Amino acid sequence: MRYSKYFLPTLREVPADAEVTSHQLMLRSGMVRRIAAGIYDILPMGLRVIRKVENIIREEMNRAGAHELFMPSILPAELWQETGRWDFYGKELLRIRDRHGREFCYGPTHEEIFTDLVRRDIRSYRQLPQNLYQIQTKFRDEVRPRFGLMRGREFSMKDAYSFDRDRTGAEESYRVMREAYTAIFKRCGLQFRAVEADSGKIGGSLSQEFMVLAETGEDSVVSCDGCDYAANLEMAEVKGEVSGSFADSGQDPEKVDTPGQKTVQEVTDFLGISPINLVKTIIMNGDKGAVGVLVRGDHEVNPVKVRRLVDDETLELAEPELVQKVTGAPVGFAGPLELDIPLYADNAVSHMSGFVTGGNAADVHMQGVDLSDFIVKAFGDLREAVQGDPCPRCGGSLTFLRGIEVGHIFYLGTKYSEAMKAHYLDESGAEQVIEMGCYGIGVGRTAAAAIEQNHDEKGIIWPVPIAPFTVALLSLDPGKEEVHAVAEAIYDDLIQMGVEVLFDEREERPGVKFNDADLLGIPLRVTVGGRGVKEGVAEIKERATGEEQKVPIEKVVEIVKEMIDARS
Ligand code: ATP
Ligand code: MG
Repeated sequence: MRYSKYFLPTLREVPADAEVTSHQLMLRSGMVRRIAAGIYDILPMGLRVIRKVENIIREEMNRAGAHELFMPSILPAELWQETGRWDFYGKELLRIRDRHGREFCYGPTHEEIFTDLVRRDIRSYRQLPQNLYQIQTKFRDEVRPRFGLMRGREFSMKDAYSFDRDRTGAEESYRVMREAYTAIFKRCGLQFRAVEADSGKIGGSLSQEFMVLAETGEDSVVSCDGCDYAANLEMAEVKGEVSGSFADSGQDPEKVDTPGQKTVQEVTDFLGISPINLVKTIIMNGDKGAVGVLVRGDHEVNPVKVRRLVDDETLELAEPELVQKVTGAPVGFAGPLELDIPLYADNAVSHMSGFVTGGNAADVHMQGVDLSDFIVKAFGDLREAVQGDPCPRCGGSLTFLRGIEVGHIFYLGTKYSEAMKAHYLDESGAEQVIEMGCYGIGVGRTAAAAIEQNHDEKGIIWPVPIAPFTVALLSLDPGKEEVHAVAEAIYDDLIQMGVEVLFDEREERPGVKFNDADLLGIPLRVTVGGRGVKEGVAEIKERATGEEQKVPIEKVVEIVKEMIDARS
């Protein structure tokens, strides 16, 4: 590609409306342009990267035995009504009406549509299993679209759906997808972890998110330094047994005035105690009523774990008015004594005695409280993991990393197939419900995550497999006939060898060309200049390492080819 002829509008300044690096660099390197909140034009440079990611995904999905198809993006409401998601999906679903007043939506995900296809055309066990996928534009009316392609409203997703005879088959399909995803993100040249994610009621490790590790990631990933255990923060298990016998301080609970002291920090400072001697009482509310959750003062409640133990998916932190109603005190003074709601406690609390709690009255706490002073309905793992906690698998130490969720694999069971009557006939002619799984990858988000992970102050550093071009060829004196001829010859030879080259033959100063090459992040830079041509050499520089070498002009193509092969 000749730079002077290309549509590549780069920006020198950092755009004011872009908060994160990948968004800034995508705008500056002419990959994307915003046309409305969360809606972007993908320019030629951006599309080259998107296509590379798509092709890697496609190859690995096909290798895993999945079949590509293409669904519409405008979907009839009726299918969504069958599963109840027309109402449940809420405002993220962009609803539209046609000229006859019929309701449609712009697809945010396609479970219903794939299930509908399969229920109409699959009759027999002989036609199963199937794994079908598409790479397609989705629309989700996100509350806060931001960070460019990272969280858009319109975005490209690879979504796949597997259909199996039974759970064993579905688990196998899931395993095959986990391997395909691992291969995909490896081939993209990314550092990532597959982490255990919340699979709601299904449980087990049949939901995993693929996280690209980057300091700017929105998600917390908990990872073991000794084995390959990794989980997102809401799922990270805390190893800890509930104590068999509760210790008793021998004291009676005693009131202590704590005027205006609400937070753990304030109360413990005021009383001169450590947070490990205080028990926090958090009031949560759900469809089955309010509950109190007890955790040690230095720990944080994990709502996902509470929902699972209590078996109420709808539990959320209670509003201040409800806290007042339940405890008789403003937020900050809740305690377990004489509280008329079920109490659940974290395992760590079972090892405590003589602790401080709220007093269920404004400006009052209780001290010398023991577990014998109130009734705990159940103990369990209810807190968030912290740095240094022992790994639930191997006993190693847990550390925290930041990640960007680029993919998600999920065992669905019969949630959709049951609601939509996707059945098949088994060997004995009996009707059975199909078991499903779904598997998504954000294409644009993967490209953005690659930038978050691979950049420096000068610009992007593309991993070779997803780089828009592999070589940036710079002709520093395009006006000088002898220099120009050498650069043109190298360009032709590289193209002949199938190398993707961006040939910068613009009438620009060398500094401008160097800066643009760094900004665009093309893995190898080949520079042809007047002095070099006199000496018979050109310069090859690797973007990632900054290593430069001068090589004889006639060897350039050969060496470049070797370097690419070693990095692909
Ligand atoms: P998030 O929690 O980030 O909103 P999600 O759980 O809603 O993601 P899924 O429904 O699992 O995402 O979608 C599959 C994949 O699609 C995600 O792993 C992500 O890579 C991508 N994705 C989801 N929402 C967006 C978005 N708004 N913009 C870009 N990519 C997205
Ligand atoms: Mg989402």
